Amino acid sequence: MNAATHILLRENLKALNCSHMASQIEALARHAKENGVSYEEFLLNLTETELQARAESRLKRKLREARFPLMKTLETFDYEAAPKMDRRLIRELDAGEYIKEKRNVIFLGKSGTGKTHLATGLGVCACRQGISTRFVTGCGLANELFEAQSERGLSRVIQKYARYGLLVLDELGYVPFSKESAELLFQVLTERNERGSVVITTNLGFADWTQVFGDATLTAALLDRLTHKAHIINCTWESYRLKETLKKRREAGQEQAANA
Ligand code: ADP
Ligand code: MG
Repeated sequence: MNAATHILLRENLKALNCSHMASQIEALARHAKENGVSYEEFLLNLTETELQARAESRLKRKLREARFPLMKTLETFDYEAAPKMDRRLIRELDAGEYIKEKRNVIFLGKSGTGKTHLATGLGVCACRQGISTRFVTGCGLANELFEAQSERGLSRVIQKYARYGLLVLDELGYVPFSKESAELLFQVLTERNERGSVVITTNLGFADWTQVFGDATLTAALLDRLTHKAHIINCTWESYRLKETLKKRREAGQEQAANA
């Protein structure tokens, strides 16, 4: 193929919004010529580079929009440190069926047991499946709603949170909410109810939720909505952080003893 044809072809591909094919065509055409690749196979390889590049940029965009504070995946979760964890359930959740069924997932447990890690990991899985995902702390969401209310943008923010395919609500219950904030949060969760999944992490048992939301009737209604058809995962094992710290101390102690 001569240079002029190459230039025209590249321009056409760009006009068709296939910029990755445009950047790869010369190298792939050369490779095809040298290796006797058929026209069909060449075209297949070329279109695959475009699809792959689009999938990668879509994933990057989804991850950016999700605003995970730290990148954690299920692949890096150490199940040895969480002995009572139902691995089969996590594998099932990993497949994302719960999002299609609009079920919620609630991780309950002490600090350091990996709740945020697991919730983020599920969020990353959703992003990989092309699902619009948002990570926010309970406090962060309450503040955003409170500010939106004072700026008269509340319904827009509530609708925004209703539209995500998956909402990860982290650390619900660390700080008690004011009456207004509890009601605003209730509105978001009611809007999402049975329309989209929520993954929640909390250090509180359900019996203690009234302390955080203030009102017993509102808390009961909230729990009723959230726990209906939900997967509830009790993280009853020791804190991973604590275990790591103790391990490091033990190792340092052994080193000192060996050097003495
Ligand atoms: P929690 O949200 O329950 O307080 P985190 O998810 O923040 O706990 O976990 C604390 C730290 O320990 C994080 O850096 C997390 O990645 C790590 N961690 C916790 N559990 C595990 C685990 N089972 N395997 C690997 N890392 C873990
Ligand atoms: Mg956490």
